[in-house]
Amino acid sequence: MTAFGPSDTSKKIMVIEDNCLTLNQLQDYLYDNGYGVIPCKHSAEAKMLLNEVTPDLIILDIIMPDLDGYEFCKWIKSHGRLKQVPIIFLTARANIEDKIAGLKIGGDDYITKPFAMQELLARVEVIIQRMASFHELSMRDELTNAFNRRYFNERLEEEIHRVKRTGRPFTLALLDVDFFKRVNDNYGHSAGDYVLVQFVRFLQNRLRKTDLVARVGGEEFVLLLSDTNSGKAFLLVERLRKTLEETKFPTSEDDGAEYISVTVSVGIACCPEHAESAKTLIELADKAMYNVKRSGRNAVKITQGV
Ligand code: GH3
Ligand code: MG
Ligand code: MG
Ligand code: MG
Repeated sequence: MTAFGPSDTSKKIMVIEDNCLTLNQLQDYLYDNGYGVIPCKHSAEAKMLLNEVTPDLIILDIIMPDLDGYEFCKWIKSHGRLKQVPIIFLTARANIEDKIAGLKIGGDDYITKPFAMQELLARVEVIIQRMASFHELSMRDELTNAFNRRYFNERLEEEIHRVKRTGRPFTLALLDVDFFKRVNDNYGHSAGDYVLVQFVRFLQNRLRKTDLVARVGGEEFVLLLSDTNSGKAFLLVERLRKTLEETKFPTSEDDGAEYISVTVSVGIACCPEHAESAKTLIELADKAMYNVKRSGRNAVKITQGV
């Protein structure tokens, strides 16, 4: 967060408040503290804007002329995309029953007027940080810290949209670790786990910031290489494969741990060159990967296309 107004990556806070003075004060204060602010004077305006944006937090007045804050909160909680957006109620109603009612219908916090801006900011920051760590957890694989399949699917769809907009390609590389069962059989399952963790770190350390490593199966991973055509991807992945072959990973963190190497079979498919749908790209990369398995493993192949 910057100290002087928001940047592209700033969190967006929607403030719905019919009192113009309070609305302006909140807008200025949050803006000065680095947040993007979407001010709304009534719930109809907010509903319209919420068709297009998903704020990171909503500060919601309860007493408003058109629709009261509780009803508005219920409306938000009934919308799939908006359901997870946290809500802080802001109101002159200070009795316990009102507070409980607000929390029961899904409010995350409740601030009564008059309030100190610093307190409001502190509450906003706690919620925003909590949401950020939930989000971070929900997109990672627990064992390896690679992105998980769900996050990969989301990013893949986004990349496809980007290709349609900009015409710039991306490449998908599907990696399956060769004979991984033997690692478990020979060194034990926890050694296998330990090797997977280091294998992912090996990949993460060698990719560009814009690339992504996701775990899509037990010992199956996918690389999403942005702005990369199949030729360039082949060179990049082939270099990774060779380095991997020469790398030895310890089977535990103990001093006397044995060191082993693993190899990968890789299938490559490029968007838009080979396909423009997520499903087909994955199928093509998978097929190419299985061709590598059949012809002896430890190699990289580009798909032949559909
Ligand atoms: P191939 O070269 O044909 O891919 O051989 P493979 O042994 O890697 O393939 P197979 O599909 O027969 O076995 C995959 C192995 O990966 C078996 C499974 O126990 C292991 N595995 C999958 N996920 C994990 C995991 O999270 N931890 C550990 N230790 N092993 C895993
Ligand atoms: Mg009001
Ligand atoms: Mg496999
Ligand atoms: Mg395997």
